[in-house]
Amino acid sequence: MSSALVWFRRDLRLNDHAALHHALANHDRVHCAFMFDKAILGNLLQRGLKQNRRVEFMHAALVDLNEELHQHGSTLIFRHGLAEDEIPRLANELAVSDIYVNRDYDPAAIARDAAVAKKLAADSRTLHEYKDQVIFDRDEVLTLSATPFSVFTPYKNAWLKRLIAQDLNAFETASRMHLLAPAPASALPTLQQLGFEASNLDELRIPTGAGGAQRLFRDFVERIDHYAERRDFPALKGPSYLSAHLRFGTISIRQLAAYAHAQSSRGAQTWLSELIWRDFYHMILWHHPQVADHAFKPAFDSIEWDVAPDLLAAWCEGRTGYPLVDAAMKQLNHSGWMHNRLRMVTASFLTKDLGIDWRLGEQYFHDQLIDYDLAANNGGWQWAASTGCDAQPWFRIFNPITQSEKFDRDGKFICRYLPELAKVPAKQLHAPWKMSADQQESCGVIIGQDYPAPVLDHAVARQRTLDRFGVLKTGAADR
Ligand code: FAD
Repeated sequence: MSSALVWFRRDLRLNDHAALHHALANHDRVHCAFMFDKAILGNLLQRGLKQNRRVEFMHAALVDLNEELHQHGSTLIFRHGLAEDEIPRLANELAVSDIYVNRDYDPAAIARDAAVAKKLAADSRTLHEYKDQVIFDRDEVLTLSATPFSVFTPYKNAWLKRLIAQDLNAFETASRMHLLAPAPASALPTLQQLGFEASNLDELRIPTGAGGAQRLFRDFVERIDHYAERRDFPALKGPSYLSAHLRFGTISIRQLAAYAHAQSSRGAQTWLSELIWRDFYHMILWHHPQVADHAFKPAFDSIEWDVAPDLLAAWCEGRTGYPLVDAAMKQLNHSGWMHNRLRMVTASFLTKDLGIDWRLGEQYFHDQLIDYDLAANNGGWQWAASTGCDAQPWFRIFNPITQSEKFDRDGKFICRYLPELAKVPAKQLHAPWKMSADQQESCGVIIGQDYPAPVLDHAVARQRTLDRFGVLKTGAADR
């Protein structure tokens, strides 16, 4: 009898799962394991992030996955340690020679998997890797001269041209679940045993696990045709809210892309483009792992950012005096999610108004987001900071007031997160410091007392940014 081990990581579901499909197809007994990685969790704990919605969301997904395995008479085997030690040890204990995983594209995960594969190989064991997280990875979509793309639209066109039905086919697992290794229920460590504490995740009632992901998707299918018109307005229920599920693989990217691809509405096609952006940033990270710490365009690494801890703290805590920015940061701090338009606005505000290094904003998002994903977060930050591939040109600087007027005209979103501004007339909500003393008095909101005065003047900050970036020779910066 040949046995195998499937090591679950960012793929916390049983259906349409590449590694599980191949393990079930090639072996007659398949064990499933999940490892709480001390390198990743230890980093969060060391930085005092004991209440971490991302860890809690993942934990909830594991409860769900484990229950599903129990229904098939099997279980998840849990380990807590370093992969390089734990996976070879577990393979040895189970006497399996084949270990199956879905490929991870983060530089640290690539290094981890290489170390695990090497250790396994020393014991004549094999780590089998499969593409699962994206539709196309690594070198699958290249330019005509066989180089990686660095501009999205031609990448998207090539992606669509290359796509055939098979790329979207689900990896069948259901018919072979009886091959899952029988095992007694294995105890999932509690959050507390892992060193974490409960956050407000329960209160937020975010659907978790593979079941929650399917519920969210069904809800989105009802709205997908309106996605293109609604997606930029944070007060509306426009996007899918599936990002955390894509992050942890509680839903399959093939299921989502296949659905969107088969629809002809502008909404579905626009949404498919967003899924392609996701592939694009994964491809960029894989080809250019240095972007994790450096500007995609090397010349931009020489930009001198301001060191301004007080301003950074005001941004993080949502007290810059710019209501849309503050409401967005409150949304992030309260829920671990931020609307895409607002991720662009707040990232632009940090880098182009406050003049603070994009890496500090990226780190803050890393700490707060449930859907944190290195490829997408880094791509988004470098886009907003103009240091990335296919980024916003550096001389195009979002105006936080006009963004607010355009995308939250009635201030519905702002007032949801900044109730102290509810009595400010909608017209003044976007720049409340412009109200006269009488207007402030009559609506009961005194700037500097009930709501912060703006930390800076956008027009002045804009000019400083143009000077900051202007020192770069255009030729070098455009590399
Ligand atoms: P929808 O609009 O429903 O989009 C569907 C899916 O497409 C998303 O779930 C996501 O997986 C993918 N997607 C959408 N937009 C993008 C994009 N621009 N780049 C890559 N993938 C995209 N997304 C993350 O998943 N994790 C992050 O850490 C992250 N950080 C970001 C930081 C900044 C500064 C910016 C500007 C964007 C960031 N994004 C990130 C992209 C985007 O904001 C989120 O994916 C989106 O808001 C999630 O909500 P949704 O699932 O409702 O998205």
